[in-house]
Amino acid sequence: MQRIVKAPAKINLTLDVLNKRNDGYHEVEMVMTTVDLADRIHLTVKDKNAITIDVDKGFVPSNEQNLAYKAANLLKKRFNVKKGVHIFIEKNIPVSAGLAGGSTDAAATLRGLNDLWNLGLSLDELADLGAEIGSDVPFCVHGGTAIARGRGEKLEHIATPPPCWIVLVKPPMGVSTKDIYGKLKLEDLQHPNTEKMVQAIEEKNFKGICSELGNAMEDATFSIHPQVLHLKNRMKGFGADGVLMSGSGPTVYALVQNQSRADRINNGLKGFVDQVFVVRLLGTRHE
Ligand code: ATP
Repeated sequence: MQRIVKAPAKINLTLDVLNKRNDGYHEVEMVMTTVDLADRIHLTVKDKNAITIDVDKGFVPSNEQNLAYKAANLLKKRFNVKKGVHIFIEKNIPVSAGLAGGSTDAAATLRGLNDLWNLGLSLDELADLGAEIGSDVPFCVHGGTAIARGRGEKLEHIATPPPCWIVLVKPPMGVSTKDIYGKLKLEDLQHPNTEKMVQAIEEKNFKGICSELGNAMEDATFSIHPQVLHLKNRMKGFGADGVLMSGSGPTVYALVQNQSRADRINNGLKGFVDQVFVVRLLGTRHE
C-alpha cells in the first residue's frame, strides 16, 4: 500500500510579533497562505514494525530528526500502530528558508498515514497532534489561508486571496528562526496591519494585499544578511506589485498579477541568485 502526498510551502502575507511569553515563545499574529511549490512525500506501508526514512537531498536529516519521521512516530506511539512505514521525501522546497518546508512534510505525513493506517482522525485532530511537532504544522495540516495566532498554532481560516503569481527567491544562505527571534528588539518592530490585510483578502483586492504586506522580522534578518534587503529592492525594481520576506527569511517573494511580469522578474534575477521559482498561489484548504 502506497500514497504520494503533496506538501506545499507556505508564505507569510503578514508576520507580526506581539510579545515574549513566560514560556519563552513569542506571541505572533500572521496571515499565511500556500503556494504551488511542494515536496512529495511517498509513504509505503511495511509489515515490519519500524519507520524508515530517505530524502533525495543530502542537507536534510534522513533519520529520527526529520519532522516527517517525528510525525509518523507520534501517530504510531499515540495510537499503538503495529505496522511500519517507509517515508521517501522528494525535496523541492528550499531548506531553512522561511517556507515551512519541514512543517509541511510533517503535516503531509500526518494526513497520509491517517489514511494508510486507517486512524479515522479529523484534520482538527491531526492539527492538534501537529502542534506537538512544531508551531507551523497545524497550518500545514489544513493548508488554505489563515490567521495564525499564539505560537502560530491557533488558526482562523479566512477567504482565499485572488489568483496571482509568486516569484520566490531563495538567497544562498540558511536562516535560523531561533537566531532571528534572539535579535528582535520588540520596542522597535515595524508592525503590519493584520486587520487591513484580512479585509483586502476578503474583498479580493489585489492592490490592497500588495500594500498591506508586512513582516516584523525583516529588519532583524536584513541586519545579519544585508543581501536580502538588496534582493528585495532589486525585485521591486523589476516591477513586482508587492515584495516581502517570508517567515524569518531569507526567502523573498514578489506578488504579480500577470505571468509576463513574473517572467520578467525571473529573467532579471538570473545569474544573481540560483534558486528562483515562479509559482501560483494556491490558498485552498486540504480536505
Ligand atoms: P519555518 O518557516 O517553519 O521557520 P523553515 O522553512 O525556515 O521553517 P525548514 O526548511 O523547515 O525551515 O528547516 C528547518 C530545520 O529543520 C533544518 O535545520 C532542517 O535540517 C530540519 N528539518 C527536519 N526535517 C525536515 C524536513 N522534512 N525538511 C526540511 N528540513 C527539515
